[in-house]
Amino acid sequence: MSNASRRPGRHFLQIPGPTPVPDRVQRAMAQPILDHRGPEFQKLAERVLAKSQSIFKTKQPVIIFPSSGTGAWEAALTNTLSTGDTVLMVETGQFATLWKNMAVRLGLVPEFIASDWRSGADVNLIEQHLKADKKHAIKAVCIVHNETATGCRSHIDQVRQALDATGHPALLMVDTISSLGVMDLRHDDWGIDVTISGSQKGLMLPPGLSFTAISEKARAASKTAKLARAYWNWDDMLSNNASGFFPYTPATGLLYGLDVAIDMLHEEGLDNVFARHERLAEATRRAVAAWGLEVLCAKAADYSPAVTAVLMPDGHNADQFRKVALERFDMSLGTGLGKVAGKVFRIGHLGDTNELTIAGALAGVEMALGLAGVPHRKGGVDAAMAYFAQPGGGSAAQAA
Ligand SMILES: *Cc1c(COP(=O)(O)O)cnc(C)c1O
Repeated sequence: MSNASRRPGRHFLQIPGPTPVPDRVQRAMAQPILDHRGPEFQKLAERVLAKSQSIFKTKQPVIIFPSSGTGAWEAALTNTLSTGDTVLMVETGQFATLWKNMAVRLGLVPEFIASDWRSGADVNLIEQHLKADKKHAIKAVCIVHNETATGCRSHIDQVRQALDATGHPALLMVDTISSLGVMDLRHDDWGIDVTISGSQKGLMLPPGLSFTAISEKARAASKTAKLARAYWNWDDMLSNNASGFFPYTPATGLLYGLDVAIDMLHEEGLDNVFARHERLAEATRRAVAAWGLEVLCAKAADYSPAVTAVLMPDGHNADQFRKVALERFDMSLGTGLGKVAGKVFRIGHLGDTNELTIAGALAGVEMALGLAGVPHRKGGVDAAMAYFAQPGGGSAAQAA
């Protein structure tokens, strides 16, 4: 390799977030800073707050904190719960584990359903826990919709059914940080009480905004919940948002980007956006199978449309392989997190991405596997191309 510092062309950012930001969004954000207490901002805020509801499929308010997604996790717990409350959580992977750890720090008592990180949340187990909880000690069920660490999705409509079937009154909270704008999400229809998300994954924005859609039941719970909340107080946000303002300085530049990013999702059509992600994920899995490697997610119904985690053959370190991909082909792949560190690498296929981007990324993976001496068969890229090139294979209708 030369020691040249310039790397021509675009960096391949194939991690499951942050994801590449479309040029149109970048341009929207390149505007002079505006007065966040002035009339121009007020119009922008009213517009993006209303538009955000369309992405969550809700008529309820959506709060936008200037924060990472983690901030919205904290807001969800502190606004609705009290010290010592039990929360039912499922160990789908590293993100579910981090949310559980946060609950412990805040003085909550998680009932944590263990898993091997190879599937989404087991709805039967959730139902068993709810049934056994005759006294309704469980105040909230918290689920990660798309477990970004493992590439497994959970079925939120089924979790809702488990709550209804047992007549359990717990709040339903869902982390959609890597699923919003990637797969279907229905805050109102699925009876979700708190839906949490972030800007930097399916929404195609830089990191820095978190989103929280809130049901009436969650707002009612916030009136009696006793955990301390200050920066994260929903009421301050809701009362200021009502007139198009924020209780403190919002991330004004990102809101310009959000305005355009939501338009772009609707221009493509949400159903087409979801079908595109399914298609890119399917091509990726076909490549992995052709290489003779295994995806971490062991349950086909739970395969993630956002990210695919690939298991390394025994004796091979995923991060050494990722280093080769970065140095030789200027491509960032996702690292293994927590329990699967070193054991998996992750291919992100979410956000502003298309068939040729994924074909290029898979070519980079295949070449890097060879250079890193990872045992595999050739032909993964061919398998992906054959899938993409099927007559009608590029149409949304086909994949839907
Ligand atoms: C990225 C991610 C998070 C963390 O979001 P931050 O913005 O880094 O705080 C949480 N949950 C899921 C499912 C994620 O993908």
